[in-house]
Formats: sequence, C-alpha cells, structure tokens
Amino acid sequence: MQDNGMIPYGKQDIRSQDIQAVVDVLESDYLTQGSAVPAFEGALSQYAGAGHAVCVNSATSALHIACLALDLQPGDYLWTSPISFVASANCGLYCGAKVDFVDIDSSTFNLCPKALSKKLADAEKEGKLPKVVVAVHLGGLSCDMQAIKMLADQYGFAIIEDASHSIGATYQDENVGCCRYSDIAVFSFHPVKIITSGEGGAALTNNSALYKRMMDLRCHGITRQTQDMTKAAEGPWYYQQLDLGFNYRLSDIHAALGLSQLSRLDKYIRKRHDIMGEYRTLLNGTSFQLQSETPEAKSSYHLCLVQLPCTQQRADVFAKMRHQGIGVNVHYIPIHLQPYYQALGFSKRQFPKAEAYYDAALTLPLHVGLSNNDIHFIVNTLKSAVLVN
Ligand SMILES: *Cc1c(COP(=O)(O)O)cnc(C)c1O
Repeated sequence: MQDNGMIPYGKQDIRSQDIQAVVDVLESDYLTQGSAVPAFEGALSQYAGAGHAVCVNSATSALHIACLALDLQPGDYLWTSPISFVASANCGLYCGAKVDFVDIDSSTFNLCPKALSKKLADAEKEGKLPKVVVAVHLGGLSCDMQAIKMLADQYGFAIIEDASHSIGATYQDENVGCCRYSDIAVFSFHPVKIITSGEGGAALTNNSALYKRMMDLRCHGITRQTQDMTKAAEGPWYYQQLDLGFNYRLSDIHAALGLSQLSRLDKYIRKRHDIMGEYRTLLNGTSFQLQSETPEAKSSYHLCLVQLPCTQQRADVFAKMRHQGIGVNVHYIPIHLQPYYQALGFSKRQFPKAEAYYDAALTLPLHVGLSNNDIHFIVNTLKSAVLVN
C-alpha cells in the first residue's frame, strides 16, 4: 500500500539525480531556449533511432504541429482509433479537418488493419480518403505498423504514430519512434507516462522537411535563418514570421528532468515487464482477458488493461477496488461517445468493438513503485470483487 492509502494506477519515479538535473538548470543562465532542450532532443532521437526530434510542451502540441506539418487542412480527413485519449482525434479538429474513426481489434485493442482496409475501400468510392491516420499504440503495444504502412502506400495517406504510451516499446525489433513505417511519431512525458518531464512531449521524424516545419511551428512560425527569409536580413536583430506558429516550447527545466529520466528508461521497461508478467501469471486461466501480445511487438507496458468477464459488473467492480484502496481506472471512454463528438454527428453503435471493449474495460495499477505484495493484493481483490456478485 502507498502512503496515502491508495495504490495509484500510475505514478512517476523521481530520484535525486532528477532533482539535481533540474536544480542545475535553475542555477544556469537559461531556463528556456538553452542547451537542455537540444540535449534531450538528441538523446530522444538517438534512443528511438529517428533522424530528428522536436520537443514541445505536451504530446497534444506535438500531435497538432505534426498534423500541420503534414498539411492537414479544412476539408481533409484524419482517422484514428476510438479507444484513445481525446487528443489523438482533437489534433485533426485543431486543423479544421474532419475526424473519423476505425474500429479496434478485440484482442490487441488497437486500430484494426482489416477494418482500416475495408473503410479505405469504401472511402475511396466516396472520394473521402483520409490525409492522415493516427495509429495509437494503446497501453504501449505497437499497432500492426507494417500493415498500416502498406495501406498508406496504396491509398496515399500519411501516418502519425501516437506513441504517447510506448517510449521503450519495440516493433520488429526496432524501437517505437524510429518511424520505419510512419511519417512522425509522438511521445508524451506527462507524469503518468513511462518517463516524465512534468509536462512535455516530442515529435520524431526521419523527414528533414517535416522536422523543419515542426521546429518553425513550435516557435511562432518565426525564422532567424537568413537562407529562409524572403529578403536580406535588415541586421543581426532581424527575424521573419513566415508561418502562423505557436509558443509550444518545452522549457529547459522540463527538458533536464526528461533527459535525466530517459537514462533510466530501460530499467523502467524491465520493471514494468516483470510486473506485467506477474499479472499474467496470476490471471492465467481466469476469465479476465488481458491485452494480447503480438509476435512483432514488445509493449512498454504502460497500462495493465483488463477485460472483465461480465460487463454489467464493471461499475460495481470499480467501486469495490477503489474502496479497497486500489486506484483502478478505465482507458478509454470511446472518443466518438464524448458529447463534443456526438454533436459532430457520431452516434452509439458506430464502432461496436470499441464500445464492447469499453463496457468491459478496467485498468489495473502499473508503475515501477508497485511491489509483488501490491500485485497479489490487487489480483485477489479483483477476483473476489467479481466472485461475490
Ligand atoms: C497522454 C496522451 C496524450 C496527450 O499527452 P499530453 O502530453 O498530456 O498532451 C495523447 N495521446 C495519448 C494516447 C495519451 O495517452
């Protein structure tokens, strides 16, 4: 049990090394636009195996500038999975594009390539093909990226990986974020994610034009590079705004924390792997369904996603677990069922697998501070919460 009596579903791990890294920045000359952000970007691109990384103040901002860099515009379509955080879809709306969803696979809980293939064939007939597909690696498990990429080549859409859950995961033995099968991959460094910078995110790419565009959009669309200007610089003070960008910068304070955390990423993944292994052992042979692993994808084990055997019991099981001090959660409410999306015209029963998944979904605690005793207590409580009904 944790100090406050509640085992949280996720929790950051902050060490003295992290604190010192932040203090070092605070005592330096630059709290922002100093050297910590480029250092974090270099370490991220090296870790992931991508050519470039752009750090921003959240994954939501990263998704937004990724869509803009891919020229997503009013009249265009962005497709994603309904089982994700709302940011995976909202980024399309920010650009004035229309959003639509592709139903999930009931065993991996990720966007289903077969459903995507069918929806693309239909969309082609109606002239409504998507410009961007956001592939969300739910809980840290990579989507079937090779299948999605084959469809992208066939139908001509761009791919953004929403890898908010999956830094440290692999697909076909390469790190998620290497962008082998995508244009851009996005990480989140919110405290519940695998590593944290407080708030923060990054967009990774191998495409130097996309990289440059995202760097410009992060900072007001302003350039100080004379070769990019429309005329000769008027002096050393001169800069030009060439695009409508934002202040989406990450501060050096945050970047220093993220960089320090990154050095322990592999340890975190091993620990999460062990915890998930224990859950699998204890739940093996029961009627609780865990997220299926695939031979090609090794999860970062961000979330322990469980499907309850009986959907009518979810509210009751949730309440009982919380009552026992276990911070269970639900990931996610299908995006198309949110009132904002209902008002855009989405309705119930449009994505039946996603809705069935949601009805049975429960997230068990999974973070590096979890002890073996905690895991046994959680599983025993879960089993008895279902049994006594
Ligand atoms: C957390 C999360 C985001 C948003 O991340 P922020 O850094 O909080 O903006 C986007 N997509 C998914 C799937 C997430 O889990």
